[in-house]
Amino acid sequence: MKKNRVLMEELTWKEYAERIKTDLVLLPIGSTEQHGPHLPLGTDAMQIMQFSRLAAARVCGIVAPVLSYGYKSQPKSGGGPNFPGTTSLTAEALIFVVRDLLKEFVRHGARKIWIMDGHYENAMFLSEAIDLALDETGVKDVKIIKNCFIQFLNPQDIDKIFPKGFPGWDLEHAAVLETSLMLYFRPDLVRKDLMRPDRAENLPPYDIYPVPKDIIPASGVLADPTGASAELGEYIVRRCLDEFERDVRKEFS
Ligand code: ZN
Ligand code: MN
Repeated sequence: MKKNRVLMEELTWKEYAERIKTDLVLLPIGSTEQHGPHLPLGTDAMQIMQFSRLAAARVCGIVAPVLSYGYKSQPKSGGGPNFPGTTSLTAEALIFVVRDLLKEFVRHGARKIWIMDGHYENAMFLSEAIDLALDETGVKDVKIIKNCFIQFLNPQDIDKIFPKGFPGWDLEHAAVLETSLMLYFRPDLVRKDLMRPDRAENLPPYDIYPVPKDIIPASGVLADPTGASAELGEYIVRRCLDEFERDVRKEFS
């Protein structure tokens, strides 16, 4: 059996059955959402999938097929619903899909699961899905971890990535981080000539419903992406992979 295969979809059921009881299962979850004029709608899903694939290779894990939809894009973290192509799930749908997937992996014998969240708005709904799955399977020796890989970055990394100032992870949408990651992972999909130094300014300290059309820049870019580079993307990925590998050994050994 080729242990170097990490994608669940490339394994046969026999290979999967042999590995699932011992290997870490990574479940990447993204979104389908506007990412400004220069990045594709699948940015969140593509970058979390690419990261998961490299992460699994470091620890001989298995990457489950990516969930390319996420919770509703919010104006102050993803631009909100007023963009063609932003295609979101309700909280209930996301919770139940992720709960179902977790229960299936546990039923197959998985006891080590890492949810890789690639979309800011998903966070607490994934926590709910994990809670429900643990309650409903009743299996006691399963451990599920959830994070977004940017949480691996420390203050020194953030200073290096954002020399002109860190806007916060919520406003880091279609900006330096995501543009750098896409320049590293999929440069063919980055429309560099369409990059805009836009930023969301004077945002109210509250959320308005229905979501107004003029609350964020018309480009959908929430913070200035100039300063993004493939080199920075490579640095971010390497730093996060190193931390991930160390934490997997800490949590699952
Ligand atoms: Zn994004
Ligand atoms: Mn997003």
